[in-house]
Amino acid sequence: MFRNIIIFGATGSIGTSTLNVIRRNRRHFNVIGIAANTNVEKLAQIAHEFDVPNVGIFDERTFVGKDSLFKEKTHFFFGEDGLCKLAQFPEVTAVLVAMVGIIGLKPTITAIENKKTILLASKEILVAAGKFVIESAKKYNAQILPIDSEHNAIFQCLRGNDSSFVDRLILTASGGPFRNFSWQDMENITVEEALRHPVWNMGKKITIDSATMANKGLEIVEAKWLFDVPDDDIDVVVHPESIIHSMVKFCDGSIVAQMCPPNMEYPIANCLFFPERERLERSSINFVEQKTLNFLAPDIVKFPHLAIIRQCLKSNNNACAVFQASNEVAVNEFLKHRIKFTQISELVAKTLDIYSGEPMTSLKSCQESIVKARNVAQTIVNGYN
Ligand code: MG
Repeated sequence: MFRNIIIFGATGSIGTSTLNVIRRNRRHFNVIGIAANTNVEKLAQIAHEFDVPNVGIFDERTFVGKDSLFKEKTHFFFGEDGLCKLAQFPEVTAVLVAMVGIIGLKPTITAIENKKTILLASKEILVAAGKFVIESAKKYNAQILPIDSEHNAIFQCLRGNDSSFVDRLILTASGGPFRNFSWQDMENITVEEALRHPVWNMGKKITIDSATMANKGLEIVEAKWLFDVPDDDIDVVVHPESIIHSMVKFCDGSIVAQMCPPNMEYPIANCLFFPERERLERSSINFVEQKTLNFLAPDIVKFPHLAIIRQCLKSNNNACAVFQASNEVAVNEFLKHRIKFTQISELVAKTLDIYSGEPMTSLKSCQESIVKARNVAQTIVNGYN
């Protein structure tokens, strides 16, 4: 079990759930450092409650005039370099990465190079630079434990089985709130409707990504890198109840599934306590009350992101990074009411038509592809208005 941890993205949805788990297990964990992009007030609250000595703020401008919110002895770290310094603290054993987007990419690589165990929630990091993150984790013998519920489920299903026995991975998807909408109805989906997820309570970006199913596209890429399984051997099945979080089909035809209520505290606790488990008296699924679990095929016409990502996975360029960066731009524009819901996937496809990324040669090529893809996507959006 990890005693000394750093939490990147402490103020967000995953950070909050992580702190809930730690709050009920105070004697097992020391929070050595916390970091966030901009929410200094919430960082200060957390620092007081958990007595955190080191605080990282990605966007230094948001900190101006607020040092009095913290205890006098607090050490501050700013920007990407600051976060990288936090990731190197010798007493830290695990770094939990849960910042939106790829802000955490460089600090994560630094943590890996310092042999920390990574508790990874930011799937964007693997989507954009999976090849290089996994290569360096192997090189430095650093373990990556997946917090994303589907990947944590697969991780649990795989334990005790040799990877050569794996036949397919089956990712489940809730299908989001618009599963039963017609394509015509989807054109008029409002931001408020898209932000109302029927099962999961999450941050804004991932909630929209769930509604478009872009999230499941990103998760196929994430699974490919985490478990070293070819993308054609990764299936997606819609499972509206989100009770089965994913499954592994083995070579003998047996399928192992992981189940728990749809609450991120389960996979987070699984990673925090790995290889042990949290001892917690609490009810889980009541099968008699649950009665049925439903499954259906994803509709790739209504949710084009899924078909687009399959093409990106065949590319030798950083096409998945372009997919992710253009999707990020599109989601932002949608949240600002500047494009329609159906234009989110349209913008991703149009960006990829113009630019499929640099050849996947280095971490730098990933970062370059992201910057260029953002520019291409933004230029297309500006043309819409
Ligand atoms: Mg997920």
